[in-house]
Amino acid sequence: MVNQDRIRRIIDACQREHPCGLELIYNEPMAAHTTFKVGGPADCYVKPLGDGFPAFAARLLRAARADGTPVFILGGGANIVVSDRGIRGIVLDTSGWTGEAGKGGRFGNGLALTFRCGTSADDAAEKAAAAGLSGLEFLAGMPGSIGGAVWMNARCYEREIADVLTETGILDFSEDGGSKGEAFPGILRVPADKAAFGYKRSPFQNRPCLILSAGFALKPGRGREIRNEMEAHRRDREARGHYRYPSAGSVFRNNRTFGKPSGKIIDELGLRGLRIGGAQVAPCHGNIIINAGGAAAADIRALTGELAARVKAATGFVLEPEILFVGDWG
Ligand SMILES: Cc1cc2nc3c(=O)[nH]c(=O)nc-3n(C[C@H](O)[C@H](O)[C@H](O)COP(=O)(O)OP(=O)(O)OC[C@H]3O[C@@H](n4cnc5c(N)ncnc54)[C@H](O)[C@@H]3O)c2cc1C
Repeated sequence: MVNQDRIRRIIDACQREHPCGLELIYNEPMAAHTTFKVGGPADCYVKPLGDGFPAFAARLLRAARADGTPVFILGGGANIVVSDRGIRGIVLDTSGWTGEAGKGGRFGNGLALTFRCGTSADDAAEKAAAAGLSGLEFLAGMPGSIGGAVWMNARCYEREIADVLTETGILDFSEDGGSKGEAFPGILRVPADKAAFGYKRSPFQNRPCLILSAGFALKPGRGREIRNEMEAHRRDREARGHYRYPSAGSVFRNNRTFGKPSGKIIDELGLRGLRIGGAQVAPCHGNIIINAGGAAAADIRALTGELAARVKAATGFVLEPEILFVGDWG
């Protein structure tokens, strides 16, 4: 365990300099903050609330870096498996920093809408629809936050975040405080460069940074059509059983060179329903592992490894997990 007295001193100093409403809990079970409903205690869980978020977060990241205390940035917890031992250091929950960031501006022939990172992906789609703007329909019904969706370059229904992203506002907390001499904790505005994104890859995976906001280029559309598309996506997810059990969506990346989706490969080997402890390959989808009841994070990790090993033995393909195993795995 990281020394909690040191963490308390860091948090107190940040609060003195940048007072901010906080949910602050020591030894907080991460199972309460992940869609898999697994994960042991975070040494310290902190959720800054409201407009004080950026200044408080910047101060916290700087102080923690100086102290050598690790910080894990939490979005909606929809793509992570937190170890049963939990997370050492500080978990910074972004879900208290929501809504539109500033006024929408013009972008080419359309309009840009910028969202704070903690806004849920589904809410962002709703807000765009309410403004009569098309472009975020694909996010309707997808669990997680805008920050997490940008970090993951989330994709579904043949669209990905990089298709619509215009700019990301970040706090870079790497050693040199970011590029171009920008002094940490300044907010860097990073124009979207589509070439820097790939399949479930974003440039933010290669630099220690907090994504504060994301701007999207949207086009005026017909309200009814936008809503119909969003409803169709939500219904499709519902029908495919996405919300029936705790999970983190697809477990493995798809790899074009395999000639078929990872889920299909798993299905063809008859591995649907395979179970280790409380973790099970979803009866409705080969590429989803569910918490079928009382799963430990270790069960999910073991089942992920078992699937990869069986696929490798049978086909030679090496499946690569896209869910992230985070925290203290010993
Ligand atoms: C039922 C279900 C269906 C799903 N369907 C899809 C799908 O169709 N397509 C898809 O792509 N994914 C899907 N997912 C996975 C998940 O919804 C996405 O990956 C989502 O974008 C994760 O966002 P999050 O906020 O939950 O991130 P988290 O899981 O909280 O975090 C993921 C990573 O992003 C980092 N991160 C989060 N927020 C920030 C931030 N503000 N700044 C810096 N780093 C940050 C975290 O540190 C972590 O490394 C699904 C998940 C579920 C449960």
